[in-house]
Amino acid sequence: MKRTLSILGSSGSIGRQTLKVAEVCGHKVAAITVNRSVELAEAQSRRFQPKLAVAVDEAAAADLRTRLADTEVKVLSGQEGLLEAAAMPEADTVVTAIVGVAGLRPTLAAIDAGKRIALANKETLVCAGELVMARAEEKGAEIVPVDSEHSAIFQCLQGCKNRGEVRRLIITASGGPFYGKNCKELSLVTKEQALKHPNWSMGAKITIDSATLMNKGLEFIEAMRLYDMPPERIQIVVHRESIVHSLVEFEDGAILAQLGSADMCLPIQYALTWPERVSGPAKPLDLLSCPPLTFQKPDLDTFRCLSLALECAEKGGTSTAVLNGANEAAVGLFLADKIGFLDIARLVETALDRVPFQSNPGLNNIFEADRAAREAVYQSAR
Ligand code: NDP
Ligand code: MG
Repeated sequence: MKRTLSILGSSGSIGRQTLKVAEVCGHKVAAITVNRSVELAEAQSRRFQPKLAVAVDEAAAADLRTRLADTEVKVLSGQEGLLEAAAMPEADTVVTAIVGVAGLRPTLAAIDAGKRIALANKETLVCAGELVMARAEEKGAEIVPVDSEHSAIFQCLQGCKNRGEVRRLIITASGGPFYGKNCKELSLVTKEQALKHPNWSMGAKITIDSATLMNKGLEFIEAMRLYDMPPERIQIVVHRESIVHSLVEFEDGAILAQLGSADMCLPIQYALTWPERVSGPAKPLDLLSCPPLTFQKPDLDTFRCLSLALECAEKGGTSTAVLNGANEAAVGLFLADKIGFLDIARLVETALDRVPFQSNPGLNNIFEADRAAREAVYQSAR
């Protein structure tokens, strides 16, 4: 199956790997978008000849327009550009590889246009999962996960006709670079150490989320939304080797798992070709050279971000949007050397305490919760 892609966030880690998959597997590229990475957007445009290239930042878009003046590529800017790329008629599949809640509106635009969504942007489901899944059902838009754990679950569920047969989803976590450390040790870790993930190479924000284990909390909520599962039927296990990408336990006690090397090309590719499988660029896994596979309980006392996320998963409403917005703001401050590692959890907790809770929020309530959460973080960080 050859697809025509619109890649939102083409300059990022997932975006670049999507282009690698597209090149090897022969998918066409109709649109690419970046925020400010114009050099890369120019190189990608020359190589893949999309109809549309978007730089959200106005000045970056002006630069990109000059750079691509000798080509047929149309250049747009701002939110309008992003929404046009998300809904463009030439594309049948939209890869949502933007980081953060900035991906929410374009994901909704792609759903409204009835596209297949290859969803990497987990923050969208964390903030507005119920709304997004309901809209996708209404519009008949397929949402296929790119996140490796959710892709693993999706793969294990193939052939399962009755979701009632699923007893539990089991999400694996690498444990991140600070696995086994206590709070005192965590108070001393540096940004450089936090940016070194043991198994995966990813964008800066998700790498920090993996170090705090917030990433696993966001993925827990993402799994609840994608698979309509209550929190008590999802388990997180630490699996240091990142070989088993996640598992599904069925009512008869059988557990199915998906294994593979730590290479995002496979889940990206499957989100494009599902239900078909084709050969692609992903590194194969050699079982004979695998280390022994281990499974352990996560340390919820030390990794406070994960326990906060699990509390929000139970609570629902605007709490997950507050959790996400506060985390995005706090991670931004940590990356800018303004706060320490443990301040991330502290600031997220403060925001959760301060921002008023609302059950059954609409889209505007969600954006307001996100804004208020960021403001609470900036105020408390001063
Ligand atoms: P990166 O930081 O590497 O890339 C982010 C992309 O989004 C870039 O193209 C960036 O453009 C663009 N972008 C950033 N801010 C905005 C904005 N405000 N508006 C529009 N575009 C913006 O992130 P990743 O590729 O690592 O992650 C992308 C998403 O995929 C995240 O939600 C992450 O959680 C998820 N994910 C990532 C995995 C991975 O292995 N990397 C694995 C599983 C999920 P520019 O370059 O111009 O800044
Ligand atoms: Mg993941």
